[in-house]
Amino acid sequence: MGQRLRISRRDFVRAGAAVAAATTFPLPAFAQSSPRVVVIGGGFGGASCARSLKQIEPKLQVMLVEQSKTFIACPFSNNVIAGLRAIEKQQFGYDKVATAGVTVATQAATAVDATKRTVGLADGTSLAYDRLVLSPGVDLRFDALQGYDEAAAQKMPHAWKAGEQTLLLQRQLEAMDDGGLVVIAAPANPYRCPPGPYERASLIAYYLKTRKPRSKLLILDAKDAFSKQRLFQNAWKELYPGMVEWVSLSQGGKVNAVDAATNTLITDFGNHTAQVANVIPPQRAGRIAEIAGAADKTGWCAIDPVTFESKGAPNVHVIGDACIAGGMPKSAFSANAQAKACAQAVVTLLSGGSPASPKLINTCYSLAAPDYGISVAGVYAPKNGLLADVEGAGGVSPLDVPRDFRAREAEYAQSWFATITAEVFG
Ligand SMILES: Cc1cc2nc3c(=O)[nH]c(=O)nc-3n(C[C@H](O)[C@H](O)[C@H](O)COP(=O)(O)OP(=O)(O)OC[C@H]3O[C@@H](n4cnc5c(N)ncnc54)[C@H](O)[C@@H]3O)c2cc1C
Repeated sequence: MGQRLRISRRDFVRAGAAVAAATTFPLPAFAQSSPRVVVIGGGFGGASCARSLKQIEPKLQVMLVEQSKTFIACPFSNNVIAGLRAIEKQQFGYDKVATAGVTVATQAATAVDATKRTVGLADGTSLAYDRLVLSPGVDLRFDALQGYDEAAAQKMPHAWKAGEQTLLLQRQLEAMDDGGLVVIAAPANPYRCPPGPYERASLIAYYLKTRKPRSKLLILDAKDAFSKQRLFQNAWKELYPGMVEWVSLSQGGKVNAVDAATNTLITDFGNHTAQVANVIPPQRAGRIAEIAGAADKTGWCAIDPVTFESKGAPNVHVIGDACIAGGMPKSAFSANAQAKACAQAVVTLLSGGSPASPKLINTCYSLAAPDYGISVAGVYAPKNGLLADVEGAGGVSPLDVPRDFRAREAEYAQSWFATITAEVFG
């Protein structure tokens, strides 16, 4: 395993160099003096892309359309739920994005006309574009789980978009008596942040162990395997013996329906009534992707893996959670990497060139406890129309290492969050 990690680091350096090379192309000569690019969604993908576009080609007119004044980041929001972090540390504004030369419109985009190349905003105004980038993140599918709608989410929070829902789940845990049952319902793939439900289970278990040690945590899962599974399961045995139980799909873990009135989760194998129920429902690309004609029948957006251009809507590019990125997981790290590659491709296309094939990197850190970090890393490149795993690159944290190794990975996770949020919003 140690050797596998050494190989991965070499490959990362190589891949990193490839990305760096991709950003050193000669500046384009535009036919038109300053083409307009509109970016919808000011999260990890969209805000990164808007800034990169301006950085690569300052002559571009770049407009970022984001519905909220303040972005609330999901990474580290599990710490907020476990009472380990203030929500304020998750909040970011757009002042620095504007200082970087991007025009920020605090508006919801409500319409896209891919033929006329216009975006309609909630205030009735319309923006013309030469190329459009969508990074709207996910919408929760309130039609996918019987009994789980927006009203039910006020009782059984998903907390899969950070903000009020995060705080609701935190307050419910705080109000729960010692000896209560917490249930997390985890969805089938694909969904935002594959290791997220298991990091959440770990940090809630940490909270229970330290504050309500007679309580139990049950994970009802719609799948038979999950990201960093052995690492998580070993950590649960070591840190929270007897407290965390994972029920896989084949053991009857899939939640088919919920009853919010009684906090009950219903599976084929029986019902579970929870004191605190965290229901993470299936998801799809943010609604504007469907409006733009970029989402397919899966609810996600098929793209060209070199340019991120939508297969359904010409001149529209989709990045981040909303796109079908093959082997690349739906993470903030991925969204940021895709944003930079997409920005380069958009500038090249606007100047009449052919974008180079990118190499992209993702690393997902998770915390099994505040001082216990684990990670999975990968390198991805276009292959057969998708972003495929580069074989032999990447890997997961080693299984048998002393605790100080885990403590260092927990510190890397903190540094990663500080670095990416400074790059995107700072
Ligand atoms: C609990 C949890 C933990 C996580 N931990 C990690 C982690 O440790 N590491 C990691 O890499 N990733 C993590 N993630 C995943 C990460 O949050 C997402 O993958 C990432 O935010 C995706 O970026 P995005 O740009 O696609 O979407 P987002 O960051 O969600 O941004 C989308 C933006 O678009 C805006 N928007 C949507 N529609 C419109 C519209 N019509 N008009 C205007 N604005 C619009 C939204 O307001 C939002 O600001 C975690 C996720 C969760 C839920």
